[in-house]
Amino acid sequence: MAETSPEFSRNLRAAGVVGAGGAGFPSYVKAQGKAEYALVNAAECEPLLKKDQKILEYFPEKVFDGLDLLMKAVGASRGIVGIKKKHEKLIGRLKEIARSRKNISILEMGDYYPAGDEQCLVFEATGRIVPPGGIPLDVGCVVSNVETLYNAAFAPRPVTETFITVNGGVKKPATFRVPVGVTWRECVELCGGFTVKDPAYIDGGPMMGRVLTDFDLPVVKASAGIIVLPKDHPLIVKKAQSRPVFTRIGRSTCDQCSFCTEFCPRYLLGHNVQPHRVMRTMQFAGGEHKVHSPYGLLCCECSLCSLYACPENLNPREACVAAKGDLRARKIGFKNSDLNTGRAPQAHPVRDFRKVPVSKLVKRLGLEDYNKDAPWTEFSYKPAKVKILMSQHIGAPCAPAVKEGQRVEKGAVVGDVSADKLGCPVHASVSGTVVKVNEKYVEIQAD
Ligand code: SF4
Ligand code: SF4
Repeated sequence: MAETSPEFSRNLRAAGVVGAGGAGFPSYVKAQGKAEYALVNAAECEPLLKKDQKILEYFPEKVFDGLDLLMKAVGASRGIVGIKKKHEKLIGRLKEIARSRKNISILEMGDYYPAGDEQCLVFEATGRIVPPGGIPLDVGCVVSNVETLYNAAFAPRPVTETFITVNGGVKKPATFRVPVGVTWRECVELCGGFTVKDPAYIDGGPMMGRVLTDFDLPVVKASAGIIVLPKDHPLIVKKAQSRPVFTRIGRSTCDQCSFCTEFCPRYLLGHNVQPHRVMRTMQFAGGEHKVHSPYGLLCCECSLCSLYACPENLNPREACVAAKGDLRARKIGFKNSDLNTGRAPQAHPVRDFRKVPVSKLVKRLGLEDYNKDAPWTEFSYKPAKVKILMSQHIGAPCAPAVKEGQRVEKGAVVGDVSADKLGCPVHASVSGTVVKVNEKYVEIQAD
């Protein structure tokens, strides 16, 4: 491995680059590590979202520039772009670009879910398994999202726009970029408005995204897109189940068939995740519904168990999330749990045969009628105002760095985090006047 370079990390922090696949992890931290492989997560396995493939289609050179910089920063000797082989034409173009770069190759992946889980990608690309409770850097890998690398190519230029897909119940589904801080309602209007009555939406993909109904919430740097559906769509109803509801139904209905475990992508990588055992523990959870099972601690919350595997339509994913929260309250994580044996994980021998095709998943989710193309569209949208959230990343939220009445130029820092904390600044996405400041957001009236 070559020497690492700290300058790139400084630029990423100044630009406020965060993981744009939805997680929002500050990218400067990843760039401080040392890795043999730099992997580009272009698998985009969430059904109906298209923004990564569109960025690669329209701005591939910039993504490769970002990858070059990341490889230099972490000292990586190999860069690998993991993308589904169904994007045949795009792959041809990417291979051409890769040939003109040093040590970069394209990994063609199947169209299954969750091909884009970063630990699955690490295994597919390198044959290495991230240790339980560990991160890709533990096995010499750093993984970045497509848009993150696009933004990294411009650093220290501030991140003021984000790429999104708006799909599902809208007139003209599209993939486009908008200034950070516009509302989802404005994005839906750009797509011609709703086609469904009484709409709700899933922020992020249908599998890992969260259900929301307030379309006036602002778009953030980590936003990947939304899927608009009627409020009574079975996917919305299932994902919005409350804890008392999924606990009550789960307790009375789970027959311990263990399909949830058998399909779990982390279990198939050899991690000790066993959602059926978490479901069993719910039987003993008492009136407060507390679940103290460590078998959910390594769950990556992909939802495959709840939305595909379970023949009873139960919610083992939520049971795992609840168990993690309950154990966290008792200061138990995987590392200090009884399951941390220190043994190296082995991939399950039938792992390849349990990959779930996205086409089957779309049917199971009831999304066939909403699965549209969402083509790339340049709107050059100029909003009247934007709301810049102070918390757009994992870590400490920003503190406002401007006052009401102050004039700001596009790209000015409007919120920042002290250097000793995990986090990075947020910037004005338009030039204008600051009209409201509080600990949650800064609102700017555009010129
Ligand atoms: S798949 Fe469903 S019914 Fe089977 S063990 Fe898991 S939660 Fe229970
Ligand atoms: S959500 Fe379910 S399938 Fe996915 S990692 Fe967690 S337990 Fe496994």
